[in-house]
Amino acid sequence: MNDDEARYRLPRSVLPRRYDLVLEPDLDAVTFTGSEAVTLEVVEPVDEIVLNSADLEVGPGRLEGPGGTLEVSTIRLDPETERVHLLLSGTAEPGEWTLHLGFGGKLSDQLQGFYRSTYIDDEGRTHTIATTQFESTDARRAFPCWDEPDLKAVFGVTLVTADGLLAISNGPEIGREDAGDGRVRVRFADTMPMSTYLVAFVVGSLDATEPVDVDGVPLRIVHRPGKADLTPFAAEVGAFCLRYFADYYGIPYPDKKMDMVGLPDFAQGAMENLGCITYRESLLLVDLDKATQPEVATVADVIAHELAHMWFGDLVTMRWWNGIWLNEAFATLMELLAVDAYRPDWERWSQFLRSRAIAFEVDALESTRSIEYPVRSPDDAAGMFDILTYTKGAAVLRMLEQYLGAERFREGIRRYLDEHRFGNTETHDLWDAIEKATGEPVRRIMDGWIWQGGYPLVSARLRDGMVELGQRRYLISGKQDDTVWDVPLLVRTSAGTEPVLIEPGGVSIPVADDGPVVVNAGVHAFVRVEYDDELLARLTADLRSLSTDERTQLVDDTWASVVAGHRSAVDFCRFAESFADETELPVWQSLLQGLSWCERFLTSGPREHYRSWIRGLVWPAIERIGWEPREGERDLDKPLRGALMAALGVLGADPQAFGLAMEIERESRGDGRVDPSLAAASVAIVAAGGTSEDYERYLEAIAKARTPQEELRYLYALPDFRDASLVGRTLEMTLTGKIRSQNVPGVLARAMANRDHGDRAWSFAKEHWDEIVSRLAPTTVVYAADGTRFLTEPDQVDDAAAFFAAHPIPQSALQLQQILERQRVNEAFRRRATPELMAAFSAGPQLGEPG
Ligand SMILES: [Zn+2]
Repeated sequence: MNDDEARYRLPRSVLPRRYDLVLEPDLDAVTFTGSEAVTLEVVEPVDEIVLNSADLEVGPGRLEGPGGTLEVSTIRLDPETERVHLLLSGTAEPGEWTLHLGFGGKLSDQLQGFYRSTYIDDEGRTHTIATTQFESTDARRAFPCWDEPDLKAVFGVTLVTADGLLAISNGPEIGREDAGDGRVRVRFADTMPMSTYLVAFVVGSLDATEPVDVDGVPLRIVHRPGKADLTPFAAEVGAFCLRYFADYYGIPYPDKKMDMVGLPDFAQGAMENLGCITYRESLLLVDLDKATQPEVATVADVIAHELAHMWFGDLVTMRWWNGIWLNEAFATLMELLAVDAYRPDWERWSQFLRSRAIAFEVDALESTRSIEYPVRSPDDAAGMFDILTYTKGAAVLRMLEQYLGAERFREGIRRYLDEHRFGNTETHDLWDAIEKATGEPVRRIMDGWIWQGGYPLVSARLRDGMVELGQRRYLISGKQDDTVWDVPLLVRTSAGTEPVLIEPGGVSIPVADDGPVVVNAGVHAFVRVEYDDELLARLTADLRSLSTDERTQLVDDTWASVVAGHRSAVDFCRFAESFADETELPVWQSLLQGLSWCERFLTSGPREHYRSWIRGLVWPAIERIGWEPREGERDLDKPLRGALMAALGVLGADPQAFGLAMEIERESRGDGRVDPSLAAASVAIVAAGGTSEDYERYLEAIAKARTPQEELRYLYALPDFRDASLVGRTLEMTLTGKIRSQNVPGVLARAMANRDHGDRAWSFAKEHWDEIVSRLAPTTVVYAADGTRFLTEPDQVDDAAAFFAAHPIPQSALQLQQILERQRVNEAFRRRATPELMAAFSAGPQLGEPG
């Protein structure tokens, strides 16, 4: 332990083994009191005990042990290091001691530590819930503790609450007694030895469903009263995933019960507290008749992700916060595997390419980072919860899994979990376990991917009957950089599909004929591919010979080359025309995303011509699948229809689509059954062309929404209205509490992306920044800045840089830098693309011959 580490890591002279915690929240006063008895192993003689505590009042305390009782004579709080020093009346000799300590504090309003969440019931009464969110380092805001992941202990929790409230924690309830004054004392079973960040307790006016028996594990969904009808899907997916993971990992579920709790206020998506997983309501509660396929799939994703953590993360845990990336990347990989097994027809891996595209974008910046990096402070740890950890991390694990083969990869995972259960690990422990199981150089391959930022552009050139595969780092700035990787990927030729490891010096493979050569077949490797003209011509001659994923990646690679300035935006429009027969959702999504950027750069006549060109492109596709759901169609046809209709209505400003959207949006609020994808698309279309009357209706729809998904659909459409005063009203609501603080960053970012009024939103954010920040959970502040990348005028770029230099976001410093670099990239892109696009669409909606 060097000095720098010592600042953030507690001394190891005293180790916690068990916490007996009693907590009593007062929901009216918004405070709590507590006491703890911590069984300690004193390793060397001490006259002071140091542990973590933040925003708590601590004391009194005493230490009982083999030498009798020592008083805590002085309590010194150090807010800077979030520690409390307990000076003892004598020296505690090595052995087992018990620390008794009282404490108390306020329930936080920042969605961290022990915090307050509220909801208003149908009679208009406000109810308060006291709940927890501890990862990474906020358990210390609820009780004094050794708040580091490798200081695992058993937790015995007792909650004292008003009778009639639901009280839950990690373990099942094992006792309940009267505590006087209308209160009860509820005791919960001991947990397994685990890290402090996984402890949870929830008290409030909530209901729990009847437990479902999942091979002996009772599974319940906890929700606010009146929402029971939104729980069956979560119970079904939860049961599926618990069984799936027990089988995959070869280890039974490590706790005694599972409660999945939907909370009205929650900073992140969900949290993997052992046996007591907490969620945003929109990621747990869903009505299958009202939600779109992506909304339903997202619920399944998040449930699978959190349940995957019960083993990978909770049973086996990173030693320190530098390991967060592996924890999250792996849970994301498992989420995808489990949901793909649950509903193969959802083609979950194809959808993953959409999030991967964003990771590619961020990772092509000069301000990207390596997946793993040294972590010392809590801010360092907070900076790890980003797209590079979750998405790039999962993508490189998927690359390894596909290269080794799924069975062999799983053998390695089983070996790792079995060897380290109840323990803590470093990243290389996983590589070593897989290496032992497979005999492959896993550590060597993976080190390059996790310790170096960026990714390679793999070049494929045909020479004398061989395909030469080379690599260079892909940087959107075009800057040269000599980083290299071992790239494990699959290559498909007419002879079949073979695993190939492209080493730093490149590799050549023979091809027997003039058929297509697909480099990165299946698109599992985290690389972009650049073919020479001959190889590209062979591919585009027959797009259908490519899989959905391969076509999606081809679109994404092509678009990336446009943004980087290697190809013109007009070329991309021409390229899009070659997808006239396209039938798959992710391919269309990738095309439409690029095309909607192009639309932002056009004005007046050319913009009208472009809209007309879009209508010509999209109309046949929607005609092909029909305007209404068809009997027996694929589940994925529904969101495809929604995406195409939204493109027609918003991007194409199609009057017919707008009229239809008005009708559908109205019907969807009535009792009639409307296809959810069409309903969601209609909400977006009406907002983009809507009036203040429509806006009022949207506000009402938010207030009356029957499902969390419906509420969000309308809420996030508010910033899309094109009337300046309406955008202004939406912005005001981010300050008044009318919009829950968890949704404020998303609304602000969306308002900044508003084509016509983004600048107004930006001015508002600057003017009220301190007030906005004070309302947000610290980890979510950076999302409020995310919309700046849509502000692409040169003066806006300078303005944003100056503003954030004066208003840094230390807990997300690098993410902020990335947002600002993306803004600069987009500004340069706008400068290049605008004249080309204006010229190409000046005469009419036909692109004509390549110039
Ligand atoms: Zn996670």
